[in-house]
Amino acid sequence: MISVSSVVKVGDIAIGGNNSICVQSMTNTNTLDTKSTVEQIIRLVNAGCEIVRLTTRNVKEAENLKSIKSELTKNGIEIPLIADIHFNPKVAEVAARYVEKVRINPGNYVDKRKSKTRFSAKEHLQEREKIAHNIEPLLKICKQHKTAIRIGVNHGSLSERILFKYGNTAKGLVESAVEFIEICRSFDFHNLILSMKASHVPMMIEANRLLVSEMQKKGYYYPLHLGVTEAGDGDDGRIKSAAGIGSLLANGIGDTIRVSLTEKPENEIPFAKRLIAKYGKRKKLDLPSVIFNSTKQPEYHLSYNNLESEDLLINATVDFTRLISQKPAKELIVKHNNRDDKTLSDNILQGLGIKYSKAEFIACPSCGRTLFDIEEELKKVKQQTTHLKGLKIAVMGCVVNGLGEMADADYGYVGAGPGKVNL
Ligand code: SF4
Repeated sequence: MISVSSVVKVGDIAIGGNNSICVQSMTNTNTLDTKSTVEQIIRLVNAGCEIVRLTTRNVKEAENLKSIKSELTKNGIEIPLIADIHFNPKVAEVAARYVEKVRINPGNYVDKRKSKTRFSAKEHLQEREKIAHNIEPLLKICKQHKTAIRIGVNHGSLSERILFKYGNTAKGLVESAVEFIEICRSFDFHNLILSMKASHVPMMIEANRLLVSEMQKKGYYYPLHLGVTEAGDGDDGRIKSAAGIGSLLANGIGDTIRVSLTEKPENEIPFAKRLIAKYGKRKKLDLPSVIFNSTKQPEYHLSYNNLESEDLLINATVDFTRLISQKPAKELIVKHNNRDDKTLSDNILQGLGIKYSKAEFIACPSCGRTLFDIEEELKKVKQQTTHLKGLKIAVMGCVVNGLGEMADADYGYVGAGPGKVNL
């Protein structure tokens, strides 16, 4: 399944079609702190980032995007900016005048949570009409300013209305996006990019594949932004991103990517570039020839020679993820230069949720909403709990996606306010 997309311009960057796959990241500074935000964007640009997203919580932050842009211009930097909006349509309407793209989350943008558990067909339709009414002003502003919109659906923050009808499923993610696409199309707005993100890698892959197939049926060709949310840090975070993003790119799906890591944002860029260099060819790549042993537990044996450690991690993860989508397996043996790499094999099986050999961590990459040093806190939590095999522990900067993504976690560590964490 190769996704053929139309081209959407985000500032001077063309996304989709035959254009090269573009790398994005997100700042984790306070958007009102112009100096720190500009300095971080400059570090991202120097690392090779092509588009930067900024947390935009309120009108004051939306207004400050103008100052950030003008400071960047003074420094000779013209990188397109994206305002990340979750709850407030008015904030999006202000931001859309200053930046090249606005990201909205259909799960909580207009379609707010009402603690309702049942929706009649009539109520479902009424809510949809309300969304159309409330989003129309934003679409007008975006048309006027040539601002693109990303409909960014997250598994952790689907609206209750969508949850009631479709459950917390890949189908629910896709229906949430399709509903917004259709509303935008009804106003003749097509400057759209879509994303389906989840921390559970198989869910992210399934949702993206399903979205491509739904769009193909309907004759829509919007570009896709790929990412695995709350992937965490270190090798674990990189394995989840390689599995989700790399395997989709290797199947010809995806137009722009963000590798989310609970590390400095600029650390995301070299890894994203490696994934694009290997798989961003916009065609379906052949599967490797491997040994598949089905006698006891189905298992794959993958052998590599003379690779750098990050290349080995990427190749083994992406190959295994693609192989199990054809023929499932419960075990993996990775050999490098004829020696077993058991740690890598175990980490890949864990990253894909197949077999757990240590505690599982779900940690957000942090952003301007984060109210504590999540990178440090994650390290501390990991040091104390990694040995607790089978436990799922979430470390989240805030509740925006936190509560949904950590719904099946055994413990959660969530930013609740300045200097305040809920356990
Ligand atoms: Fe930002 Fe983390 Fe909250 Fe997501 S969960 S909005 S990355 S602080």
